[in-house]
Amino acid sequence: MKKIIIIGSGLAGAMVAYYLKNQVEITIITKGSKEDSNSMRAQGGVAAVLDSKDNFNSHINDTLSAGVNHNNRLSVEYLVKEGPEVIKELMAQGMQFDCDESGNLEFGLEGAHSFPRIIHAGGDCTGKKLTGFVQGLIKNSVEWIEFAQAYDWVIENNCVTGVRYFDRNQEVKIIQGDYFIIASGGIGQLFDFTTNHQTITGDGIAMMARIGGKLSDMAFLQFHPSLLSIDDVQPILISEAVRGAGAKLIDESGNQIMKGQHPLGDLAPRDIVSRLVFEALKQGRKVFLDISSVENFQLKFPFISNYLDKWDVPYRKDSKIPIRPGMHFMMGGIETDLNGRTSINNLYAVGEVACTGAHGANRLASNSLLEILAFGKAAANSILQDEKQASINKSTSIMTRTPNQLILPNRQELIARVSSTLGIVRRKPEIDVLVEWLSGFQFQSIPIDESCSKKIELANLCLVADLIARAALARKESLGAHYIILEENNEFSCK
Ligand SMILES: Cc1cc2nc3c(=O)[nH]c(=O)nc-3n(C[C@H](O)[C@H](O)[C@H](O)COP(=O)(O)OP(=O)(O)OC[C@H]3O[C@@H](n4cnc5c(N)ncnc54)[C@H](O)[C@@H]3O)c2cc1C
Repeated sequence: MKKIIIIGSGLAGAMVAYYLKNQVEITIITKGSKEDSNSMRAQGGVAAVLDSKDNFNSHINDTLSAGVNHNNRLSVEYLVKEGPEVIKELMAQGMQFDCDESGNLEFGLEGAHSFPRIIHAGGDCTGKKLTGFVQGLIKNSVEWIEFAQAYDWVIENNCVTGVRYFDRNQEVKIIQGDYFIIASGGIGQLFDFTTNHQTITGDGIAMMARIGGKLSDMAFLQFHPSLLSIDDVQPILISEAVRGAGAKLIDESGNQIMKGQHPLGDLAPRDIVSRLVFEALKQGRKVFLDISSVENFQLKFPFISNYLDKWDVPYRKDSKIPIRPGMHFMMGGIETDLNGRTSINNLYAVGEVACTGAHGANRLASNSLLEILAFGKAAANSILQDEKQASINKSTSIMTRTPNQLILPNRQELIARVSSTLGIVRRKPEIDVLVEWLSGFQFQSIPIDESCSKKIELANLCLVADLIARAALARKESLGAHYIILEENNEFSCK
């Protein structure tokens, strides 16, 4: 029986395991508990053409338009057409999405969608319900290793044969396998203000980069316009579905931020809304979501309401939620084909860590979970059909271990520099300074004497920062979520 090792317990890891179960031996190693992931946090829902009045072309065009046509069209078509089939299959297995009184699926609207096509579960708890449901389907078919941080590959005869990880006692362990699925999510913790879970530190991307695997679109990071913004309170996402239900972005004087700025108003693509909110904040204004016209807010958004109540936000009296943009999602990552195959033969990547090209320069809202459903299935099928002898492509350069120690910056300083340099508005001279600063540290290869898990996590953050910075410098024109100012004294303005 083939032995498959999956790194990461979010929806991507769980979906691949679901399609492989009972046909191969599966182990999932994950950094925290199996509940620790971005998937468990997803709020708005899954975008899918499931209403007879909707159609594939409309969803394809919305995806391409939000992605500024930087997308891989074949990936987009596959995502839009295959995703709904997987949803129907999960519903047949018992997954319950929210329905109206007649038992029909309820569809929400989110930014840059021209049709309400977002299905959701438990109101704003879609990720928890969906990921929990799929994890339930695989629970007897998978060996789980929790609190296990993967950090390096075992390579024998030019072939990846295993993963090295730190177990919960900080001991180095090796697990061998025939195929490896990298499902370790994005890079959110590289930024100081983010929606992402604390385990999301770009480890999979760094592990791939260290063995010369292909990455793409690393410059494209999505900043969500609306994270709760209160001093000393952990930010949470205030879903775009809240704007889809009628909320407006306003400043402290009640002026609408998006008025006259874009034909879709408050539901314009995320990159555009984030830049306008950023500009308003730079001008010294405060920004809020005005929810006065959202009906049944507490019923529709129970998770958000509970959190606002917990921190005594007076939204029940004044209908205002203070927000600012934050790091949310990575469009780029490990380059894959339509079957999740990477440039290294027996390594697959699925989920946010992967770059299938479906999202282009800016992801359309609620397309991420859909991507995982569609491409998770494709990756599993590809592994089941693959009879080839796995081996690393001859062209890849495999970094040998270094005898040196990791020489690393202070984590807080790294995050502060990255946040101010690689955020919503980027300036070339500042990125040059960041790259120069990073060149003073050693984070490219893992030392022979293993170091410790926190140190390697910091090395991964440095490596990913360097990759993003260099990709941003290489892309000299602004596109989608990558907005760059080339000259020192040019001022930023959305006008
Ligand atoms: C607050 C929030 C709301 C969102 N809402 C939506 C939405 O409504 N609709 C939508 O489509 N998308 C949404 N997204 C995006 C979407 O949830 C994510 O892109 C998606 O869930 C990523 O799934 P994943 O399985 O690829 O990664 P994750 O769910 O992030 O899982 C990665 C897993 O890998 C583990 N891991 C990381 N490093 C290692 C390592 N070194 N060793 C072992 N394990 C490791 C992590 O602990 C985690 O378990 C949202 C994201 C956030 C943060």
